[in-house]
This record gives sequence, structure tokens and C-alpha cells, in this order.
Amino acid sequence: MAHLAGKTKASLGSVMAAARKPHSLKSTLLTARLKERIARKGPISVAAYMEACLADKDAGYYPSRQPIGADGDFITAPEVSQIFGELLGLWAVTVWQSMGAPKPIVVAELGPGRGTLMTDALRAWRSVPDFLANVTVALVETSPVLREVQQTALYGSDAPVSWCTRLEDAAEGPLIVIANEFVDALPVRQLVWRAHEWRERCVRIGPRGGFDFCEGHAVPSESLQQLADTLDIPNGSILEIRPAANTLIAALAARAQDVPLAALIVDYGHETTACGDTLQAISRHKFADPLRNPGEVDLTAHVDFAALKDATIAHGLTAYGPMPQGAFLLRLGLEARRDRLCEGATDGQCEALTAGTSRLVDPSAMGLLFKALAITSPGLAPPPPFGES
Ligand code: SAH
Repeated sequence: MAHLAGKTKASLGSVMAAARKPHSLKSTLLTARLKERIARKGPISVAAYMEACLADKDAGYYPSRQPIGADGDFITAPEVSQIFGELLGLWAVTVWQSMGAPKPIVVAELGPGRGTLMTDALRAWRSVPDFLANVTVALVETSPVLREVQQTALYGSDAPVSWCTRLEDAAEGPLIVIANEFVDALPVRQLVWRAHEWRERCVRIGPRGGFDFCEGHAVPSESLQQLADTLDIPNGSILEIRPAANTLIAALAARAQDVPLAALIVDYGHETTACGDTLQAISRHKFADPLRNPGEVDLTAHVDFAALKDATIAHGLTAYGPMPQGAFLLRLGLEARRDRLCEGATDGQCEALTAGTSRLVDPSAMGLLFKALAITSPGLAPPPPFGES
């Protein structure tokens, strides 16, 4: 089993954020609540800690802020270049055609952030009136703050848009799902290999009163035991598993029982399952300490695309990829689109377009670490560009 080196989110600086501003009131509240919970019930799993930090209704990271952009904590592909959302929008059109152009068609986006990807996709759909006339958009978003941002961005859009908190609640019928940098925000469990068994990695209150990692109860699992036995895993290795990603695949499979379905998951992560601690905190475009300022900093962990693919196949769906983001976008026609946009642009605009697209595909930026995995219901043609030789 390979070991994950300290790979980093491509769009970040490599230094740790220096002393952060003092705890906000909300972070202080969440800290107190977590400490009280740990004092009462003992250490909590890394997954439970991550879930509380990201999703706590009052003080969680996403429900309480708009974190994306130069003046936020991190930048995502749709914010880097409009071409990203346009190409993914056109990807959805081709997939729809391969389904036999069912009407209506629902396009659901999971975790739509500022609504930028969908705004760009909607613009691209203007060139395909038959699609635009039959598409309804479902935005799956749990953060009330981001919902408001999305409502503003998509106000007066060319297609009906609705919001829900779970994919299961998106309008019925044939479905195309897009999820960019969504899965990395779902909590991970961390298991530590210690004295021939897996133990849950937990968060406790340390001797100095702050949060601290510790090893909790043993996790009996035959398949995980086999994995450790057949591969020579050193003592202390950390394995990350993401139950919420399996729940997502199960929801896709349930929908695919009745209707054609395709999904595109783009995120940063690894192609093969490997040991390593990839839990990271991000604040103001720099790495931060995941155990400090809960709810104030973004927490993420790399996506295990092999596990996602295994879950897809186990649920009877078909998986394509993962393909590095650079190759994926280039094969979808990124350069031709950039050149066309440059024709009508000023020199400055063209330079910005070129810089943005380079960042998306450059192997040392987002081109390799980010990957695309496509999922379809059985019997559909391979989605672009996976079917090309
Ligand atoms: N896709 C966007 C934003 C990525 S940030 C982009 O590429 O710019 C993650 C997004 O997922 C945010 O919109 C966040 O509020 C949302 N989110 C996180 N966890 C979620 C969950 N469990 N259900 C629905 N949305 C979630």
C-alpha cells in the first residue's frame, strides 16, 4: 500500500497560516460545546469532530459564512475560469443526448458554492435551446448563507432553479449530477493501525486544555483487517474512510433504479487507496491547525477515488476514470473554447483567460491532483471524454 506524501490542495500557499485573529464568538461557542460533549462522553471520532466543525447549524464553517474567493479562504475551479462551468455544462448536454434526450431533465449540483459553475453552465446552454427549454436545475445546499449567495447569482436565470438539502429530494426523473469540490468536504473517519488492529482516531481534550488527537476503540472489520494483513502497513499508519461518500453513491444507485442517471465528481485526491493523514485545515488561502478555531477554518481531506469507484461498482453503477482534471478539460475542448473567447476579448482579458485555464490544467497546479470520476446507470454510453480512444 502506497503512503500518501503530504500532498497539498493545489491552490494554496505552502506555509501555515500565522497567528489567526482571535476566536470569533461562534468558534468559542462551538469549542465550548465540543469540550462539554467530550467531557461528558469521552473522545469523539475525527469524523464527528469534522462534522461538527463544518456543519453545526449555528457555528459550523459552511452554515455561517461565504468562504470562497480571493477575500475568503479558498478558490475553486469555477472561480478560476468561466470555462470550467461552461465545459461541465456542455458535458451535461452530451450525456443528456446519450440518454435519448429525455424531457424534462434535472441537473443537480451538489454544494454549488457561489453559484458560479451553474451560472456558467446556464450561459453555455443558451447555445443548445432544446436542452435549455427542458432542463430544471436542483441545487443541493445545506448552508443558508450560501443559498442566499446562489439565489442572487442565479436570479432571473433561463431555467427553473430550486434548492434542497439532500439529493434524494431533487425533482423526480432522469438526472445528471455535478459535484465539484463537494466530496472533500464530507467528513472522514481516520483509523490508526496499532498492534495489529485498527483503532478509531479521536479528538480529546489534551493536558493543556486544547484539543488533541488520540487513539480510541478498536474497529473490528474483516475487510480492513485483510487489507492490513496482505499489505505491509507500518504501525501508526492512518487510513481514511468516508461513510458519507458511500451514502451519496447509494442515493445515486437508488435513483438509477428507475431512470437514466449520470454523475460527474471532480475533486482533489488519490487514484489508489493509500495510508496517510490528509486532514487539513485551510484559512485565508493558507494551511492552519485543524484542532484550533473549530468552525472558523475549512476542514477537508483528500478523496479516495478508488474507494468511490469500488462503491459505485458495488451498487451496480458504471464508473469511468478517475481522469486527471487537466486531461479531462483538455479533451473536453478547453483550448478551443479559450481561443474562441480570446477572439472577442481585449489583450488583458485574454491574458486572464489564459492564466486561468493554465491553472486548471497545469500538472503542478490543479491539473493532476484534481481528478474527474464519471458515474452512469448501466447501459448508457460512456460520457465524454471517457469513450474516446
Ligand atoms: N462547488 C463549489 C463549492 C465548493 S465548497 C465550487 O466549486 O466553487 C463546498 C460546498 O458544499 C459549499 O457550497 C457547502 O456549503 C456545500 N456543502 C458542504 N457539505 C454539504 C452537505 N453535506 N450537503 C450539501 N452541501 C454541502
